[in-house]
Amino acid sequence: MDTEITDVTNDIVLMRVVGTKANHGNVTCISLDDGLVFIDTGKDARATSKFRSKMEARFKKKPIFVLLTHTHWDHIFGMEVFSDVPIISSDAGVEAIRKELDGELSKEGRQKVIKQIRESLKEEGRTPSEAHKQFFDDLTNVTITVPSIGVKGEIEFGSEGRRYKYWSIGGHSDCSSVVFCEKEKVLITGDNLVAEHAANSPCMLAGFKPEAIEILESFEQMDVDTFIPGHGPVVGPEYVVKSTEWFSKMFSFLSDLKSKGVPSEKAVSDPALPEFFENATPRDYEHILEFWYNAV
Ligand SMILES: [Zn+2]
Repeated sequence: MDTEITDVTNDIVLMRVVGTKANHGNVTCISLDDGLVFIDTGKDARATSKFRSKMEARFKKKPIFVLLTHTHWDHIFGMEVFSDVPIISSDAGVEAIRKELDGELSKEGRQKVIKQIRESLKEEGRTPSEAHKQFFDDLTNVTITVPSIGVKGEIEFGSEGRRYKYWSIGGHSDCSSVVFCEKEKVLITGDNLVAEHAANSPCMLAGFKPEAIEILESFEQMDVDTFIPGHGPVVGPEYVVKSTEWFSKMFSFLSDLKSKGVPSEKAVSDPALPEFFENATPRDYEHILEFWYNAV
């Protein structure tokens, strides 16, 4: 597993896990006057731990808190790396983790998930890949805790002249939040924006909700030069515009076909469907379209 470190600005650094088909959420570090703030904890505690050490050595500062853009697994599995500092999410995020710790994230729940994945692989005549095995190990050993602080509305942090704002925005998940770095004109979007979709598991794109288009439109209105997406490399405003236009076009196209009574299997292979907006087409593209057809 490889990681890629990007200096977004002198004080904002992004770490990505690359070269794997498994979903790994981005982890960002902001160096403030009084310490480091990490945004999300990624899916792989080893990669996140290395990133933390690297940032501590580089900035000669310690973490002061962690902000979660949302509480999906690929963004919280590195949580244990920050057991010494407060972890902050939206209040909906606190509720979501609390609930999951009694269900899918409980010890039994996690074993059940492993069993389900093993069974579905078997049904497809596949054997677990190295990435699957790693995930099963991680799922068995991961330590998830309820965030120490749940934010209702918004919070601000930083210093005079370098203000940062964290607020709950919804869309991708009820607990989704964003971080705006006003001076640097950087927005850390969580999974309401993703770049290089083909590198991710198709289920992520399939989960894109038509309501999230409004959120993308609101990103366009902001004074932002650089977007750090939930997955994929940093992108500029033009990517957000392209992405918004494409999702709007695709969803209205599908909804049109649906209202005309075109069945899903025909709709997903309609030759007039808007072509995917990135160079590489996501895996299981037709399945993704089927999901969307059902959602519109
Ligand atoms: Zn994600």
